[in-house]
Formats: sequence, structure tokens, C-alpha cells
Amino acid sequence: MLGQTRVAVSFVLVAFLLMMEGTPDANVGSKLPDPVNADVAEKLFRLDCGRSLANDESVWTPGANVGRSIEFSSTCWLIKHRSEWLLWDTGVPEAALNDPRGWSTLPKLIVYHLDKSLTDQLAEIGLKPGDIARVAISHTHGDHIGNVGLFPNSTIVIQQAEYSWIHSPNGPNDNVNQLMALARKLLGTPKNLQLIDGDTDVFGDGSVTLVYTPGHTPGHQSLLVHLRNSGFIMLSGDVVHLEENFEKNIVPSLNTNKAESTASMEKIRQLIAAYKATFFINHDKSQTDSLKLLPAFYD
Ligand SMILES: [Zn+2]
Repeated sequence: MLGQTRVAVSFVLVAFLLMMEGTPDANVGSKLPDPVNADVAEKLFRLDCGRSLANDESVWTPGANVGRSIEFSSTCWLIKHRSEWLLWDTGVPEAALNDPRGWSTLPKLIVYHLDKSLTDQLAEIGLKPGDIARVAISHTHGDHIGNVGLFPNSTIVIQQAEYSWIHSPNGPNDNVNQLMALARKLLGTPKNLQLIDGDTDVFGDGSVTLVYTPGHTPGHQSLLVHLRNSGFIMLSGDVVHLEENFEKNIVPSLNTNKAESTASMEKIRQLIAAYKATFFINHDKSQTDSLKLLPAFYD
């Protein structure tokens, strides 16, 4: 009986994936997990990777909240899979630690502060940067790749489309051009760079899956984690910044592609429904403040 249920659930998922990808051919390379048979990662830790103050919320909510200031969280996540550690995003550079002036990617718009270093938080659970085998990054904005340089021996996992984009010629939006230049500087030339193309099953067992969600940047990705007790958890990256934006389908003005942004939000909505996933939004401070923080963890 159980076997039949599993077959039925798998069939429904495959049908769903085919529907989502449009054509059967487009789905051939899909690496999204089977919700019933997916393996699990052991632990998921949240790290405090900074906070930021922006002077005009309307950049993220076009048409509303003009001139209103807002505080965002910056979040990194650490995953234990068997004996291996994977870090998702690296946050605001450690050089900004406790600097009252803060650090900025776009000084006229947003200033970041860092109250705890990534290195110190890893040490709290007995780890050094050298223990992290893989660093996967949602996208190349400075508040996500600020500390890639701490992990020279780790494999840095990024979408090919993102890497190609930051090495492409400047476009019409000067803010975006500035962010690309900063990305090239902060990312440097990693020794072990893994460029991936679309949805990717990191460990080949359905436990940790990179989900391609372009729009905020051309090669943006989110991360789906499967845990024994918590079930599936979707980590947003910057596919959306605020719960309200997700509810109302609002696209920030800095995003590189509005149509892709909307489609990626819809993809996430469908995956949340298919996997009954919990959704953690990286920059939504009010949500983030309610979540467990290292050394506590989700399992
Ligand atoms: Zn961000």
C-alpha cells in the first residue's frame, strides 16, 4: 500500500514538474527532488550575517513607501550533510565588523552593519572556515559574497548565468553596473569554482537542491533543504525581500528582469505548495528575528 502511495505521489510530482517547465523536453535536466524519497540533511543553522538600513523603501516596493526608511536582515545558512558542511551565502564583509560607519554596496541607498563575524559564529560550534567544503551563493551582490575570500579552499557554487553576467559589459543602469564591478572584486578568481546550469541536486540524494530563480540578477538561485523533523525549507536568497512583496508580487526596481522576477516568485510558490515547504526570507527582518540562531538549529 505504501509503495502504491509513493508511486502515486511521484507521478503527481513529475506531472507538476512537466507542467511547470512547459514542455517535457525542458524537464529532462530538472534536478528537483522527489518529495517522498528525498534524503535529508542533518542540521540547518542560521548565522547573523549583518543588517542594513535603507533610506527609501520604495526601491524595493516601487510605488509605495517613498522616502520611508527600512531595516533589513542579512542571513547566512549553514548545512550539515553527513560529514560535510555547506554554507549558503557569506554576508557582509568581516572588515565592517562593529564599524559605526558601516559598509555599503550603494552608498546613497543602503548601509550595512555587522555585529558578529562569520568566523566567530563558526567557532561557536567548533568550526573553522577551512572546514566548509562548499560555499553556495544565491547571487553576486556584495551583501551575499562579502566573505567568499574567507574560503579559498572551498568549492564556490554559483550559476553560470550569474558568473557570465558580472563579466559582461555594462548596461544602462548605473547602480547595477556598480554592483557588477563590486561583485567582480569581492568574488575574485576562486580556485575551486563550480558553475552550474539551472536546478541542481547538490549531494545527489534530494536533500539539498539549488533552485534557479533568475530576475533579481540573471543567475539568481534559491535553496531547498530537506530535514527529518522540519520537512522541506526553502531559503529565498533575494527572490523576494519582504513577505508583503511575495504576497503582492512586487518586484524591486534594482532587479535586472521584472518578468523573470515574477516568474521566479511563481516558481517558488508552486514549489512551496508541492513540498509543503516553510519559506525563510533572507532580508525580511521581522521574520528573521523570529527564527532560530546558531548555536540553535533546525533538524
Ligand atoms: Zn541581498
